[in-house]
Amino acid sequence: MEVVSFVCSPEEAKDWSAIKRIIEKQTGKTYEYIRWKKRSIDARSRQIKINATFECSNTPLPDRIRTFTFHKVHHSPEVHIIGAGPAGLFAALKALMRGLKPVVFERGKDVKARRRDLARIAREQIINEESNYCFGEGGAGTYSDGKLYTRSKKRGEVDLVLELLVYFGADEDILVEAHPHIGTNKLPKIIENIRNFIIEQGGEIHFESKLTGITRTDNKISHLEINHGEQTPIKQVILATGHSARDIFYLLHQTGIKVLAKPFALGVRVEHTQALIDQMQYHGRLNDEYLAPASYSLVEQIDGRGVYSFCMCPGGIIAPCATSNGEVVTNGWSPSKRNNPYSNSGIVVSIDPTDFENPEDPFVCLTFQQEVEKLCHDATGNNQKVPAQRLLDFVEGRKSKDFPRSSYTPGIESVRLDEVLPPLVAKRLQKAFQAFDKKMPGFLTNDAVVHAPESRTSSPVLIPRDKERMHHVEIINLYPCAEGAGYAGGIVSAAIDGMKCVEASSKR
Ligand SMILES: Cc1cc2nc3c(=O)[nH]c(=O)nc-3n(C[C@H](O)[C@H](O)[C@H](O)COP(=O)(O)OP(=O)(O)OC[C@H]3O[C@@H](n4cnc5c(N)ncnc54)[C@H](O)[C@@H]3O)c2cc1C
Repeated sequence: MEVVSFVCSPEEAKDWSAIKRIIEKQTGKTYEYIRWKKRSIDARSRQIKINATFECSNTPLPDRIRTFTFHKVHHSPEVHIIGAGPAGLFAALKALMRGLKPVVFERGKDVKARRRDLARIAREQIINEESNYCFGEGGAGTYSDGKLYTRSKKRGEVDLVLELLVYFGADEDILVEAHPHIGTNKLPKIIENIRNFIIEQGGEIHFESKLTGITRTDNKISHLEINHGEQTPIKQVILATGHSARDIFYLLHQTGIKVLAKPFALGVRVEHTQALIDQMQYHGRLNDEYLAPASYSLVEQIDGRGVYSFCMCPGGIIAPCATSNGEVVTNGWSPSKRNNPYSNSGIVVSIDPTDFENPEDPFVCLTFQQEVEKLCHDATGNNQKVPAQRLLDFVEGRKSKDFPRSSYTPGIESVRLDEVLPPLVAKRLQKAFQAFDKKMPGFLTNDAVVHAPESRTSSPVLIPRDKERMHHVEIINLYPCAEGAGYAGGIVSAAIDGMKCVEASSKR
């Protein structure tokens, strides 16, 4: 098999006869079997280019994904996993690879039942506090955007997660694209396939089963209490409850298990039209069938703090992601085709425990996060409606008289966000938007709308663990895992951390 790389135009990249011609010219050979290996867009100059890499052969090409070995584990030693998000589910898959029986407890419902609770948020503005955009089968990853990029440099680990996703039904394109993406419409089926497989192999997944208590004996956990009743004896527990399970942070603290305040980020979600972002990023090329909807990534240092774009969703929708009534939270998703007319992104300011009077308090950042979510809720006083402002109005401190259409279905209300958001956030955001406009002229426009708050970027609490053995620094059979524990950011890194925790626990 030969690997051939070249740079071509977006039109050529969609034309197989052009691709074959270029490969023939470059190698001096003809090939019967040709397939994409890697693809990325380079839109830095007016002449937009595609970086293309192909695998070419005259014998059939090998499978794209490796062969996985999973064991039947009906009678194997158990590993308990709390939370069925990406970390919990991939931990369960790793347990099957290691010959361990995963027993998963998940507070929320399965993906299908969960969908009804999401519809209710839009329709009745009521949050089911156990089943919402963050809680339920697949965790925050199920109705997420499904972008699969990660800052992890460990290619082997990333490839393993992507190949497992393909094994359970994701499109093989995720192995090719430089910025792979699945989309909210396709994620639930993949999650369902993973669940059915875990059960077929002999694992257990219990829905509507919330961890409510922990029995600790010296440096070990002996029992877990589920739904305030059943006491389950355990040997090892992977705690993969995500960054929104505030009750878990308090439960650990009350049980005398060490948790610490952790820096996180908070801000707003800004929505432009996709056409405007395409125009800015693709140098005026509009509605271009040869180019994917454009995205952006922006970062600035403002008054000693990073302000940056987070979870940018081209062709996306802003979602109501609160986990409690009386609070509002925004985040974004997009379907696989990214074909909505909107483009949204979190724009967030780094927050540090030292921003507050009592940085030693493990809950100092969490309390701040929750207060902002409540303030934004109370600013409209209407369940899941969020306070909003046109972007230029926000920067210039003016209330907006009206709005263009917003994708946020529970609704928006005109509020001066600089009067609702704490100054350490609002002032930096105002300056950052001005700086972003210099990098992307046209970004700072009154045709864009700012929605508040974007507050669940990462965990505001850290559950400290031993660096090498990965268990809690004091409790040797507790494995704080992924985003909730402060050790991951996003679907892929959470999945990697879930697998690593099982790997570490199986060594004990
Ligand atoms: C709308 C949206 C869009 C997103 N888009 C992207 C994206 O495009 N790309 C990306 O990489 N990331 C995205 N994210 C973030 C991503 O979903 C998270 O990084 C990832 O899901 C974290 O995985 P996790 O397994 O650590 O935690 P989670 O996914 O949060 O899962 C934790 C699970 O634990 C369960 N749980 C909590 N407490 C308990 C308890 N007491 N007992 C039992 N179970 C419990 C929860 O119900 C939940 O199912 C998005 C998030 C949202 C909300």
